[in-house]
Amino acid sequence: MDFYIGRVLRLDMTALTATVEPLPAEWIRLYVGGKGLLLRYLFEELAPGTDALAPENPLILASGPFAGTAAATCSRLAVGCKSPATGTLLDSYVGGSFAPELKFAGYDVIVVTGRAPHPVLVLVEDDRVEFLPAEGRFWGLETAALEEKVREEMGPWHKVLSTGPAGEQLVPFACLSTDQYHKAGRGGAGAVMGSKNLKAVVVRGTGAVKAGDTAAFARDLLALQEERILTADNAWTWEEGTPYLVEVVNAAGALPTRNWRTGQFEDAAAIQSAELQHVRTKIRACTQCPLACRQVHRFGDHICEGPEFETLGLCGANCGIGDLATIAAFNGACDELGLDTMSTGAVVALAMDLCEKGAADYGLAFGDAEGYHTAPGLIARREGWGAELALGTRDLAALKGRPELAPHIKGLELPSYDPRGTFGMGLGYATSDRGACHMRAFTAADDILGGEAPADSLEGKPALTVEQQDFSALAWTGVWCANMYIDTDFLAVHFRHLWGRETSHDELMTIGARIWNLGRLLNLREGFRREDDRLPAILAVPHPDGAAAGKTVSAAEFGAALDEYYRVRGWDADGVPTEKTLAKLSLDVRL
Ligand code: SF4
Repeated sequence: MDFYIGRVLRLDMTALTATVEPLPAEWIRLYVGGKGLLLRYLFEELAPGTDALAPENPLILASGPFAGTAAATCSRLAVGCKSPATGTLLDSYVGGSFAPELKFAGYDVIVVTGRAPHPVLVLVEDDRVEFLPAEGRFWGLETAALEEKVREEMGPWHKVLSTGPAGEQLVPFACLSTDQYHKAGRGGAGAVMGSKNLKAVVVRGTGAVKAGDTAAFARDLLALQEERILTADNAWTWEEGTPYLVEVVNAAGALPTRNWRTGQFEDAAAIQSAELQHVRTKIRACTQCPLACRQVHRFGDHICEGPEFETLGLCGANCGIGDLATIAAFNGACDELGLDTMSTGAVVALAMDLCEKGAADYGLAFGDAEGYHTAPGLIARREGWGAELALGTRDLAALKGRPELAPHIKGLELPSYDPRGTFGMGLGYATSDRGACHMRAFTAADDILGGEAPADSLEGKPALTVEQQDFSALAWTGVWCANMYIDTDFLAVHFRHLWGRETSHDELMTIGARIWNLGRLLNLREGFRREDDRLPAILAVPHPDGAAAGKTVSAAEFGAALDEYYRVRGWDADGVPTEKTLAKLSLDVRL
């Protein structure tokens, strides 16, 4: 079984035991790897209604078949569980070098269940698995300090996937970290790891991945690199990285500003890519990636990878902060503490809004760096007013009696593309399988980022959303990075080596649709229905100014688009896949 190791490592944290089991061949055939395998394991292991922070919520780490080979960007790891932020499924992706090392150690997937009787760090060195006591040694450390300690004590090539102080405190938007700056950011996987009394999984492997006809595979990868990867389409990655989006999204009136009051930030020019170029020191890449989109910047003594666009939007414009060094310091604090910058920025902006409206007294104000600086530390450790912000936007706004101010869908904070400036993103957020997410359908590419579709209409967007969601589910079997421009022709080259035969566009897209429907069944089993696929009240208020002034997605327009989306998907009017749809997709599970 080339490309796969064929082994799954199961860690029972309650018993502190490790066992190895075979990777089911039928699951590989249907779900390939990454997101597909992760959701299939989740469907099997997660009892309906389980509390996300209970020992019974499994934490799953899944590689893709191309991790550990030279396939570009496929070093990414899929991380999943039931999300403590949303109660939906959670799949989150992280670059760096953990997934290849996991394969070299002899495993495709790790399934973590239970809760350890005391904090531990799990060390995996090929076949040897140890549960090391973490109290007084690793527990409590910030992410960079932990990695440094592991390197000092265990060796420079050990790879660490860890939770930070925020995850130890079960903050529902705590992330997982690896290679210091790489984060499985959204949805709270860090809290689930913390709930298991698990500080980190550390891996070191001395094996290799068999890649079929290696010479032919290398020839094809090289051709793809020259013809499809190191091209003008992808040049933005190494030239600017995601910060280039600030200018474009702001111009479209879609950059969330001051807790979503408007979509155009008057200080956007000060936080855009051109300014970051002045302080850029180098670019970095994940293992297996020739694109090197990771921009490293120096702000005085502070060296920081990032801020990425989402951080500039939600921790910058949305908090009224127009100073790059201030945003970078906030970003750095979140990284060290293991907090998702997107949700943290969103909840701080909400807190500023609540203060301004007299609904809270945290001493925070839009554009004021003083309280802003202290927020990540207080949130991560649940100290002072940080304990209330650690609830996340949905629960904080409800606590303060202002639920209409919370920018979330299903409990996950909205990304930095305001649907009032790019309508299709709203449909993508509402139908995303893990709450508001811009990575599953990215229709902004078809309107405000150079496409020709009208930004203020949902016409044609349901089918486009379905297609993009299915493609993302397919691409995250690999696990290819969303920053690289790819299509099914590109993926088919890889599948030719994986499956030893040619594949069609339709066959590959069916894999994506199968995985998406599997995710829908998981969420339906957790009680989510049509009424949960909706936009938050905060988006019903039109912007007073900017390019999207006066525009909102009306309830009638959204409802019609959702009907159409369900129809294209082959779901009934309540968003439940029909038997015919499930059979057509050869899904092997039912509700
Ligand atoms: S494009 Fe960037 S985030 Fe994606 S794999 Fe390459 S370096 Fe990592």
